[in-house]
Amino acid sequence: MPTYDFTRRTRRQSDPDVVVVGAGLAGLAAARVLTGQGLAVQILEAADRIGGRAASHELDGFRLDHGSHLLNTAFPEPRRALDLARLDLRPLTPGVLVHNGGRRYRVGDPQLTTARQAAARAPLGSPLEKARLGSWLNRLATTPPARLKARPETTTARALGDRGLAPRTVEGLLRPLLGALLSDPALGTSSRVAELVLRSYARGRLCLPAGGIAAVPAQLAAALPAGTVRTGVRVTSITADGVETAAHGRIGAQAVIVATDPRSAADLLPGLRLPDFHPVTTFYHAADRTPLGEAALLLDGDRPGGQPSLVSHSLVLSELHPSYAPAGQALIATTVLGRRTFDAGGPAALEPAVRGRLAELYGTPTGGWQFLSVRHLPDAVPAMPPPHNTRRPVRLLAGLYVCGDHRDTSSVQGALVSGRRAAEAVARDLGLPVTVREAEAA
Ligand SMILES: Cc1cc2nc3c(=O)[nH]c(=O)nc-3n(C[C@H](O)[C@H](O)[C@H](O)COP(=O)(O)OP(=O)(O)OC[C@H]3O[C@@H](n4cnc5c(N)ncnc54)[C@H](O)[C@@H]3O)c2cc1C
Repeated sequence: MPTYDFTRRTRRQSDPDVVVVGAGLAGLAAARVLTGQGLAVQILEAADRIGGRAASHELDGFRLDHGSHLLNTAFPEPRRALDLARLDLRPLTPGVLVHNGGRRYRVGDPQLTTARQAAARAPLGSPLEKARLGSWLNRLATTPPARLKARPETTTARALGDRGLAPRTVEGLLRPLLGALLSDPALGTSSRVAELVLRSYARGRLCLPAGGIAAVPAQLAAALPAGTVRTGVRVTSITADGVETAAHGRIGAQAVIVATDPRSAADLLPGLRLPDFHPVTTFYHAADRTPLGEAALLLDGDRPGGQPSLVSHSLVLSELHPSYAPAGQALIATTVLGRRTFDAGGPAALEPAVRGRLAELYGTPTGGWQFLSVRHLPDAVPAMPPPHNTRRPVRLLAGLYVCGDHRDTSSVQGALVSGRRAAEAVARDLGLPVTVREAEAA
């Protein structure tokens, strides 16, 4: 049953049924569900391109994502909402390489048996402690998400301390791995979210589309009716029956979904909670020779003076797929986490220090590498401290909805789920059948 009489709203013939503000993953996912219900949807996007934070661009033959992204094949919502086969996902090498105390170790391959993990040479503690880690990851992999979400919640850092794992196990794998996967080197993230992320890590493979992260929004947009997305249209204010735009006047609708980044959503919807953010700074380098003959996630596990090292992680993208770099060239993406203030040189001023550290991490001279680009995003990833609600309400009132990663989890998975939840709420209010199963929140 509809919960609101939408017929009393006045609309022009040309107005869509639903306006979606923002063509990031959440907005595109919402539009996919609603157009599938036969509704006329207009996505208004302020930028001149779709994708929001999931974007890539070409530079001199190199494909640079706007901040190095990783997908996980175990994320349930991408499997539901996307045609993964057509995304041509390229998996990273199983496990990770951790640089610790001047050496690199291959660790954390959840596909290995506990016995093989116990026998591995990595400095993660005694064979018993390694076996304990292996069986914990195995247990996480098979624990239903609902059970993980019901566990006591604290920060990830505290939960790792309380779990009884050897300090070497924590420092040698879990701290650098979770810091990278959560974009949170201090590990202030909710322990429930961390366990959900580790669960996916233990069940699936980290990967990237051969065409870069922008291939994900591109696939969603390609399935929408022609003309659904209008780029270069900034929405300046919102009501439950339409939006005002900066240069294109008013557009009426039966329902409005705000699918912007969290800061823009809080501007458009005063009173909406604004989260803290984890900044992400990504450096791109080109090299004549690949510094590593595989697409392995290389984590910097050293903690000089007990603090996280400058570099969080690095990946040779051209080892994932040759199209990331021109023939004969390697493309290396390196992530620096944490809030920083930059002098007049901006984030590029950090590049010599990053390059110096990369020489140690890869064990190869980096003086000849070409510095291609750096991208610093202060609001890259909404923080998820405890208590974190993995399902914040998406329906504000009948006719007005909000979605985006800040409503679920700060990830591709969370953005897609939130978009679907908002679309389902619209459909329910309009009295349309909601055919899609309720989403897993993480
Ligand atoms: C550097 C970086 C690395 C990341 N790494 C990973 C990763 O490895 N794995 C992972 O799962 N996730 C990762 N993420 C997170 C993931 O990219 C985001 O969670 C997801 O893309 C958010 O999508 P969204 O649709 O919620 O928001 P957004 O992508 O922010 O989209 C919002 C859109 O709204 C538009 N907009 C804003 N205001 C207006 C307005 N007034 N009018 C019209 N349009 C407006 C914006 O231009 C934008 O296009 C990373 C993010 C960053 C930045």
